[in-house]
Amino acid sequence: MAAGGRTTLEQLRTSALGCTQCALAEGRTQVVFGVGDDHADLMFVGEGPGREEDLAGEPFVGRSGKLLDRLMIEEMGVDRTECYIANVVKCRPPNNRNPAPAEIAACRPYLEAQIALIAPKVIITLGNFATQLLLDTGEGIRRLRGSAYPYEAARLVPTYHPAYVLRAGGEAMAEMRADFVRAKKLVAEGPW
Ligand code: SF4
Repeated sequence: MAAGGRTTLEQLRTSALGCTQCALAEGRTQVVFGVGDDHADLMFVGEGPGREEDLAGEPFVGRSGKLLDRLMIEEMGVDRTECYIANVVKCRPPNNRNPAPAEIAACRPYLEAQIALIAPKVIITLGNFATQLLLDTGEGIRRLRGSAYPYEAARLVPTYHPAYVLRAGGEAMAEMRADFVRAKKLVAEGPW
């Protein structure tokens, strides 16, 4: 699987739909590749599909997805057809456990190729897994959020996973909103 060359996003998706590169293939209902505008300026990267996403074949369709959709509209004025949404791992970890390092490593080429093909101006990473993978750091999201970072030709804006914000509410919600506003400004300013 090549990120560049003549590989298209559709070819990459077809490849992912039959993927058995890691143990997550065994428990999935379907591969959740990603959804949205193939040429979006804005891309969200979450952790992995949950039960509802595994059944629907689309990322962020449960309660977390509803919050994501709401914050997108309220803070950025975009809906999910105007951006692209993907996850670090494309198959559901059993019982919603965290994805294992070997599973993240196996799935990483798909995400990197998606980013290369979509070429967004801004990537919003949702939670620790996406943020630490793309920034290649072990630092936690609480320390990393509040700033933007270079990621190849894009700018990466780390924020919380909406599932965390649903639990934490209050201050975390306000910080996530501020991160979305930061990202919106960067979309308007880019490319760099
Ligand atoms: S999680 Fe990724 S690497 Fe593992 S089987 Fe699914 S698509 Fe393949």
